[in-house]
Amino acid sequence: MPATKRVHLWSGRSVWQARRLPPLPSRPLTRDLVADVLIVGAGISGAMVADALSDAGLSVVIVDRRDPVTGSSAASTALLQYEIDTPLCQLIKQTGQDRAQRIWRRSRVSLDALRARVRHLGIDADCIERDSLYLQGNVLDADGLLSFADFRVNERAFQLMEQVSGRAGRKEATGKVLIQTIQPSHPVLQLVKDHDYKKLYTEEIEKRKQFFYPPFSRLIHVTFKHKIKEVVEKASHFFADGLKTKYGQWLVGPAEPVINRIRNQHLMELLIKLPRDTKMIANCKKDMLEQVALLHQHKSFKSVTVVNNVDVV
Ligand SMILES: Cc1cc2nc3c(=O)[nH]c(=O)nc-3n(C[C@H](O)[C@H](O)[C@H](O)COP(=O)(O)OP(=O)(O)OC[C@H]3O[C@@H](n4cnc5c(N)ncnc54)[C@H](O)[C@@H]3O)c2cc1C
Repeated sequence: MPATKRVHLWSGRSVWQARRLPPLPSRPLTRDLVADVLIVGAGISGAMVADALSDAGLSVVIVDRRDPVTGSSAASTALLQYEIDTPLCQLIKQTGQDRAQRIWRRSRVSLDALRARVRHLGIDADCIERDSLYLQGNVLDADGLLSFADFRVNERAFQLMEQVSGRAGRKEATGKVLIQTIQPSHPVLQLVKDHDYKKLYTEEIEKRKQFFYPPFSRLIHVTFKHKIKEVVEKASHFFADGLKTKYGQWLVGPAEPVINRIRNQHLMELLIKLPRDTKMIANCKKDMLEQVALLHQHKSFKSVTVVNNVDVV
């Protein structure tokens, strides 16, 4: 027997509107009323405020221009969860770590308070606690992770999915992880499914050896930025040409990155894959600094920004 009532979810009506609800006592306001507090809005907010105030001994009147609980409260899918709609990682970027954590904690406390209130009032709400972690597809974005143009793409995607999945379940209880993807047979997703980090390592290390990527080499990543595309292209070639004689076999590029324009600045990239030879790396860094100086002496390349990133991770 199904645990919930079957309803047609694509009808454009919420589950509350699609079923008969117990009548809510309300009547038109035809005469003056006296109360300690007047609440405007008979949705979930008004109801909760009224509950708290009347519990504190105040007399309360709620008014609304429509029937009670027919505003946005009627549209809610009623998912009670202690995370708010914005994922914690995004909220941290927006408001800083302390504030973001406090917001999340407070929403957790509210949920506990709501549960306690429902119990206290003896409401049979059929409240079921789940140990599963549900992630919206575009928050984790498994497909996006796997299509990123970077030699660490598989390792990173695996690591992130494993890490997030590891948070499902609580203490001894087993959780359930659902990953939304358009490529379910992707090898990395299979490895995540099997939790097979050893195989991931064996396959990845082999590829890195073959294509001379770290840990078999050291990487220097150079980004060139300028508001005029032509200028940045020419500057990056000028820079690379100056290094060709000594480091030609280790240069990859210059080339336009996948995201080729940020904040009105056109970008070009150059990758230098050097053997793990300390002396050679030190010399290369010195030669690169000289090359930057030469570039900036050139009249048309004066305002080109050059960003060097060694062993970028
Ligand atoms: C599609 C959808 C899905 C959602 N799913 C979830 C979910 O899963 N989980 C969750 O926690 N939240 C969810 N929400 C959000 C949640 O529904 C709302 O945050 C919540 O219902 C807001 O309640 P409220 O009482 O503040 O507003 P409302 O329910 O809209 O109540 C406000 C009331 O005030 C009245 N009013 C306004 N101005 C006046 C005025 N001047 N004079 C008289 N009356 C006035 C309106 O008529 C209305 O009845 C969802 C919302 C939508 C739309």
